[in-house]
Amino acid sequence: MRIEVENDQIRARKKQEYEELVAEMDQKGMEARLEKISIVTANVFGVLVFFIVGAISFALFYLIHGREALGNYMGVEGSAKLLLFVVVYAVTIFVHEFIHGFFWHFPCEGKWKSIDFGFNPKCITPYCHCREALNLKQYLWGALAPTVFLGIVPIIVGLVIADAFVLLIGVVGVVGGCGDLMVIWTLRKHKDCMLFDHPYEVGYAYFVKKNAD
Ligand SMILES: [Zn+2]
Repeated sequence: MRIEVENDQIRARKKQEYEELVAEMDQKGMEARLEKISIVTANVFGVLVFFIVGAISFALFYLIHGREALGNYMGVEGSAKLLLFVVVYAVTIFVHEFIHGFFWHFPCEGKWKSIDFGFNPKCITPYCHCREALNLKQYLWGALAPTVFLGIVPIIVGLVIADAFVLLIGVVGVVGGCGDLMVIWTLRKHKDCMLFDHPYEVGYAYFVKKNAD
C-alpha cells in the first residue's frame, strides 16, 4: 500500500506503470482501449441523484416516522447539526476511497501492495488506485462497495432507527458514488475484458484482443 500526495513525479510514475502494463498485455496479443467518464455528465447525474434519492428517502422517512422525527439528528441540536454533518461527510470521503481499496486488494496478486491511496491537491480529492488489471467481477465489487456501505446501508439504518442525520449521510453517500455508478453502467459493454483503473484519465482502460472490433 502506498499513501501519497499526488505530484508530477507520482503522475509520471503512474503513467509509466500504465505503459508497462500496456506493453505486457501487448505481448499477450491484447490492446488497451479507454472508457472515459465525462465529469460534466457525472456532476449533472450527481445533482439529479441527490434530488431523486433524497426525495424518496425523506418521503419514506416522513411516512414511516412522521414529521417530528425529522428533527432526530444523533441527539445533536441547533447549529452543532451543521458541524456534525460537515465533519462526518469529510470523513466519509476518505472512507469511500478506503472501501474501494479494501475490496480491490482481495483479488490482487500483490494484495495491499497493489493498492495506492493518494490525495490529489489539484482537485482536493482523495483517490484510490489499483495497480493490477482485474476482471469484471473483481472490479465491480470494489467499484460498487462504497455506494452500498456509505449510501444504501445508512439510508436503511436511518429509516430503521428514525434518524434523519444517518439518512442524510446515506443520501450524500449515494451521490458520492455517482461517478462509480456511471463506471459500473459502462461495464456491461466489456464483460469479458480485463479492466484497469486509468492512472490519469477519469475512467478505466480495458483490454481486448488485437484486431477485435
Ligand atoms: Zn468511488
